[in-house]
Amino acid sequence: MVITYGTRTLFKREGAWGHAICKNCGHDAPQTLCRQLDQVTLFFIPIVSLEKQRGILCESCGMIVPLDKAEYKRRREARQKAALF
Ligand SMILES: [Zn+2]
Repeated sequence: MVITYGTRTLFKREGAWGHAICKNCGHDAPQTLCRQLDQVTLFFIPIVSLEKQRGILCESCGMIVPLDKAEYKRRREARQKAALF
């Protein structure tokens, strides 16, 4: 019997956070609130998800500027309120 297992990295995007000049690549690129999850898979089905980091993702180069949990939550709620109006 062959057991297929592995890992994968998932970027869960939770909304746009405007444009900014990235410190890494220097492009004026869209920024996105996102969480990086590492998942353990069994037969390509995610079994365990571990949050590696959360922050603001540069859509140009993929660098994540990390945010602490409270700051990330505050920004996510502010974005959700902005989406209502
Ligand atoms: Zn960048």
